[in-house]
Amino acid sequence: MDLGRTLPADVEDDLLDELVASKRLIETLAHLSAEGVLQVDDDRRVVRFNAAAERMLGYSSMHLIGTDARALLHPSNAIDPFVPELNGSRSLEIVFADSAGAPVTTRARSAALERDRRAEGWMLAFSAAPRLDEIEQLKSELVSTVSHELKTPLAAIKAYTATLRQNPALYEARRDEFLGVVEQQADRLSRLVDDMLLVTRVGSAQLLRRRVRLPLERIVRDALAEIAVDRSRHPIICDLAGVEVSCDPERLHNVMRNLIENAVKYSPNGGDITISGRERDGFTEIFVEDNGVGIESEHLPYIYDRFYRADDPSAQTCTGGSGLGLYIVNAIVRAHGGTVSAHSVAGKGTTFTVRLPLR
Ligand code: ADP
Repeated sequence: MDLGRTLPADVEDDLLDELVASKRLIETLAHLSAEGVLQVDDDRRVVRFNAAAERMLGYSSMHLIGTDARALLHPSNAIDPFVPELNGSRSLEIVFADSAGAPVTTRARSAALERDRRAEGWMLAFSAAPRLDEIEQLKSELVSTVSHELKTPLAAIKAYTATLRQNPALYEARRDEFLGVVEQQADRLSRLVDDMLLVTRVGSAQLLRRRVRLPLERIVRDALAEIAVDRSRHPIICDLAGVEVSCDPERLHNVMRNLIENAVKYSPNGGDITISGRERDGFTEIFVEDNGVGIESEHLPYIYDRFYRADDPSAQTCTGGSGLGLYIVNAIVRAHGGTVSAHSVAGKGTTFTVRLPLR
């Protein structure tokens, strides 16, 4: 290494060691980054292409290093990310071509690596932006779900309160019953709002906030306290003594509430609901079992999809729902490093099994 003057050998060695350590640090950071990282030299040749970029675009860095980075841009890409005179960094929408040639739209930040006021390379950090048609689809699904799921309880609340207000005799005789319905519908609204807020956190680091170890019984007890269930029609049997779970308690609460509510909702003729748990092979296994309508096998693969409802909307037995519950359950369980599965026999009942690593 020519540093332009002679340095004592031990100083030169120290400097070299520092350089090697810095290079290793940069490589590790790029490797760990969840964003794609592309570094090019002043000839626009690929110098660095990290693991996230490999996953997003389907190329292996081994084959890309040294090749022209402009070949990675899709023909529909409108912006040159490697502008010769570039100061500071800028945000762009870059369309790459993946290894199959398909367009991958990304949100990117580009920064010139400058030396003597000249760009001698560029660093691009990018993450895949949701495609516009996906956003449009989500928007229309949300609008139709929200309009239906918000309108039904609102209409009930309005009708029951108006009826009570206009009929003093009815108010005297059936006040508790009517107000009970109003309260139930208001709960349904507030749960829908909770679910929609949770949906916006799915896939982000904010879905889970903490992880603690605690008795599963406590979570189930709190969840049950929030669910309106007629215990004479739906006796709840709990077998949870001594079982511990490692989780974000608020989020596991969401999971249990959703599963237990579904067990009640999809057992229109009543029947036992059994909630049990056990610790096995470093996991906590939680079972929620009902004797309800069950799920036809053709629907089973899709029940965790966002907005998916297996209920036939024209059927008499159809209950309301947004189709978000199991989507959220699955997202929360996966964020914990766990799995959720369902075993169901149509007409007989369903058992949901949640497995969470016990750390
Ligand atoms: P929602 O209950 O709002 O429709 P979910 O995401 O919670 O949405 O459930 C998706 C679908 O899975 C439901 O529409 C229902 O058909 C089915 N399902 C969920 N839990 C049960 C259960 N315990 N028994 C029978 N069907 C169920």
